[in-house]
Amino acid sequence: MAIDLISRTAWGARSPRGSYTRLDSTRGVKVHYTGGRVDPRTVDEHDRCAALVRSIQNSHMDGNGWMDIGYSFVACSHRRVFEGRGLNRLPAANGAGLNQGHYAVLGLVGNSGLVQPPDGMLHAILDAIEHARQNGRAGREIKGHRDGYATDCPGEPLYGWVRRGAPRPGQGDGPGEPEPPGAPPFPGRLLTYPPVTRGDDVRTWQARMAERGFELDVDGAYGPASREVCRTFQRQQGIEDDGVVGPVTWRLTWEAPVT
Ligand SMILES: [Zn+2]
Ligand SMILES: [Zn+2]
Repeated sequence: MAIDLISRTAWGARSPRGSYTRLDSTRGVKVHYTGGRVDPRTVDEHDRCAALVRSIQNSHMDGNGWMDIGYSFVACSHRRVFEGRGLNRLPAANGAGLNQGHYAVLGLVGNSGLVQPPDGMLHAILDAIEHARQNGRAGREIKGHRDGYATDCPGEPLYGWVRRGAPRPGQGDGPGEPEPPGAPPFPGRLLTYPPVTRGDDVRTWQARMAERGFELDVDGAYGPASREVCRTFQRQQGIEDDGVVGPVTWRLTWEAPVT
């Protein structure tokens, strides 16, 4: 789906006070939140998003004394993207000395009221990022405002999403790498043979190894066949092939890329 971009004219932006500093390319994009309260009714009524963007521009120009809104783009719940300063223009929101490095994209959530970004907003942020990559020479980085700057921005929900690689909601193929499934907690004992180790932890490990494509019975009994599969896997992973499922082997069972 192409970006649904709302031009400055369409959202009623004020004219900038002065001329922009040119930005040829960036390492990527930094994600922001408002840091204040966002009315949850913005989710129901897009007109409220536009009003909020205008008030942010006012506070940046009249409060901070900036020449324009500080963000490159603003993403709302309705999968729509407001043009802020736009492409190839230096933003102001990342902090002094940090604006050359990244475009600045605001998600319209805050630290109270609307705190969790709806899926439409995550899509809109990614639409803005792809737009910046395709048309504004943005690099691959997706970071939060707090990376390299003392702030809680963009808040825990958005920052956690950034740290997970900013995946598209509902699928694993965002610009970031798909997330490997996290390992369940290590059972706290070694799975070994001999003698046969039996239990649900063995069954959990066997089921994951079967998912990885190994042929073994998922019977909850760690015997010679399980040990052999374990050794093969350990050699694939370049770790000592002792045939014992300890904490490292356990974690790799889930987190190593499936080849
Ligand atoms: Zn910020
Ligand atoms: Zn909206």
